[in-house]
Amino acid sequence: MMRVGATATQGLFLEEVSRLAGVEIAGCYQCGKCSAGCPMADEMDILPNQVLRLIQLNAQDELLAANGFWRCVSCQTCSSRCPKGIDAARVMDTLKILAVSRGWRPKDRLVAILQRLFLANIRRHGRLQELELAALFNLRSFRPFQDIRLVPKLHARGKLSLARHETRDIHSVQRIFELARPFDRPASTSEGHRP
Ligand code: SF4
Ligand code: SF4
Repeated sequence: MMRVGATATQGLFLEEVSRLAGVEIAGCYQCGKCSAGCPMADEMDILPNQVLRLIQLNAQDELLAANGFWRCVSCQTCSSRCPKGIDAARVMDTLKILAVSRGWRPKDRLVAILQRLFLANIRRHGRLQELELAALFNLRSFRPFQDIRLVPKLHARGKLSLARHETRDIHSVQRIFELARPFDRPASTSEGHRP
């Protein structure tokens, strides 16, 4: 069972995440529809509705040490299903930003690699180059032929683009990365552990 313990410094966590995300997290009544539709639920140690509950409980350390929000792929399914209009996908993104700014990193090595490569890909091209990301991820994770047989199928179904889509205004994208740099605090201990 997960231990939930709030400290004085964690007392404002609900308020802080709600404000940063612009989401009324206190309004979540735990119906679970977000988690029921999440395509990544089987990969998460803490489901989307549980993430929201931990925020309500100000259980900052338990939440930031988990892998659930790192595995979110921002598909928006949870947000579109919520009967209360709570944008859980935005909360997940906000938690990643908060975690990095506090020196936390995903404890799962592959998730950490994917996060880094994803951001580097966007920074380089302005838009995601899916094939390049997949190839680099396979190389960096020492599994060069992982899922390679799926490429033709995914492409045929429009789930994987083989074309390059460069953005016209790459300088604006890179400027965003520059503005975010002060928040990218280096991990001060091993990944996934409290800084
Ligand atoms: S669907 Fe909405 S109200 Fe229901 S658990 Fe998820 S966030 Fe909370
Ligand atoms: S946005 Fe993230 S948490 Fe929400 S359904 Fe998609 S993967 Fe799951």
